[in-house]
Amino acid sequence: MDCIFCKIIKGEIPSYKIYEDEYTFAFLDINPVCDGHTLVIPKNHCTNILDADSKTISHVMDTVKLISNHYVNDCGFAGVNVMNANNEAAEQSVFHLHMHIIPRMANNKDHMFPASVAKESPANMHKILKIGE
Ligand code: 5GP
Ligand code: ZN
Repeated sequence: MDCIFCKIIKGEIPSYKIYEDEYTFAFLDINPVCDGHTLVIPKNHCTNILDADSKTISHVMDTVKLISNHYVNDCGFAGVNVMNANNEAAEQSVFHLHMHIIPRMANNKDHMFPASVAKESPANMHKILKIGE
């Protein structure tokens, strides 16, 4: 399979590695939105959280937490955003599951989300989004 993140895990494509364990690999994003922009990926290939099994997601999130704590406790960052895109419609561009860790400095003024674009009334959305009824 021709997957750039699988090649990064195997060392066939170079990367700036932050951390690696039995299940996960973490490295700096080649096109960072800020200093320390990090990607965490599972070693077994899956497309995104829609097809990943829960153990894989759990291992990835354990590594996200480990690195996030390290960035806040040891590296001078004040917080992190954790982001993830699933499918093309959500602007996923590499189709191997990955979590973005976006470290944030204190008092930075960047906004994570665009202004609200909700078009449905809260009551309608409530009916649409509920599971199991
Ligand atoms: P997505 O758009 O799928 O949420 O995120 C994919 C991320 O992978 C992008 O932020 C992009 O900069 C990063 N990326 C794509 N190719 C490479 C690569 O070869 N090396 C590294 N380190 N990052 C990459
Ligand atoms: Zn892959």
